[in-house]
Amino acid sequence: MNKLMLFFVLIFSTYGFSDLKQDLDRQLEPLMEKVISWRHDIHQNPELSNREYRTAKKIAVHLKSLGIKVETKIAYTGVVGLIEGGLPGPTIALRADMDALPVIEKTGLPFASKDKTKYLGQTVGIMHACGHDAHVAILMGVAEFLSQNKDQIKGNIVLIFQPAEEGPPEGENGGAKMMLEEGLFEKYDPEVIFGLHVGNGPHGYVSVVSGPAMAAASTYRIKVKGVQAHGSRPWDSIDPVMASVELIQGLNTIVSRRINIINNPAVVSVGIIRSGTRGNIIPEDAEIQGTIRTFDPELRAEIYDEIRQIASGVALGTGAQIDVEFDVGGFYPVTYNNPDLVAKLIPTLKEATDNKFFLSKTPSTGAEDFSFFSDRIPGMYFWLGVNAPGVENAPGNHSPYFVVDDGALDEGLKSLIYLVLEYPEK
Ligand SMILES: [Zn+2]
Ligand SMILES: [Zn+2]
Repeated sequence: MNKLMLFFVLIFSTYGFSDLKQDLDRQLEPLMEKVISWRHDIHQNPELSNREYRTAKKIAVHLKSLGIKVETKIAYTGVVGLIEGGLPGPTIALRADMDALPVIEKTGLPFASKDKTKYLGQTVGIMHACGHDAHVAILMGVAEFLSQNKDQIKGNIVLIFQPAEEGPPEGENGGAKMMLEEGLFEKYDPEVIFGLHVGNGPHGYVSVVSGPAMAAASTYRIKVKGVQAHGSRPWDSIDPVMASVELIQGLNTIVSRRINIINNPAVVSVGIIRSGTRGNIIPEDAEIQGTIRTFDPELRAEIYDEIRQIASGVALGTGAQIDVEFDVGGFYPVTYNNPDLVAKLIPTLKEATDNKFFLSKTPSTGAEDFSFFSDRIPGMYFWLGVNAPGVENAPGNHSPYFVVDDGALDEGLKSLIYLVLEYPEK
């Protein structure tokens, strides 16, 4: 491109973007009305991981109606749209996750989910208790605005609607990792990726952590095999319940007593303990499952070792056979926000939200499979506070009472659109 052409492109694009921002302001209200109605519909019809059929269809129909090139059935139910901008520029990926959780909704909202399903042998509710309904609806809105203004957009936008962020059902692959394994990035070759998550923060505020933003999530499963006996004759048993009690006590000393967490926080939690069928039978088996959150791979390896040591110590002491498995359902790496990218784009997020922005110093012990994307290319994952206006403390993600305030979603939509418009200008 010669200098004169470059001059005109720059003039046009600078003019175009401020113009586009004004257009967005003008169109924001009707666009948000659509976003909110899509969200309510998705909220009322939640689908578990790798089963997001209706949601995927809704997204694909919408994208196609906008003239966006669409691919479906990526990593089971994933949908990917490509907006080709009219001006030369980078390829930017935007990601929204689609799945709901096995939670009985207790919000009392008029569009609350009443759905039920079987999950791990139990009848459960299905609820968008993590707000992925909001993520999908926002990205559908972003798609609408950007596609309608694509002549003024620099580069390509890849819209990634991802299944199974909460983790695929046991025995299945899924999520970001599977989309990548199916060649998503080879095909679209994005140079940067952005994503957002709603949470119980101040209404409409966007926040971001620079560097490690969310923990790596590992899982463990401990199977204890003893000898079954009548509850009246415990001396005939090798009691897996007692062994489990010792195991759990031991697990709870890892972070509190056995590893140095001064520089790197870690969490070891027990989430499942299962054993027994009757009060007068000492059972044969017990099973413990839990989660480990870390920010440092070496510390993580140390924790795995500690768990193995505790298990072999308890096995020796009780005579039970104890087997430990890690990451049976997969592993999520640390979600890392590229510090250069964050520094460059803070002004953009401030502009998009009229300064409803803060740089958070506190990484979350939550985990995200967005990390698989941002392990491959620079990425930035940010939070959007969706408490009702003025509310400080509200039930958080995964709670049956988690409520997303519709009035906060426009800040998420604006943030994603501004990031597309400004990257990599600032
Ligand atoms: Zn989530
Ligand atoms: Zn979640």
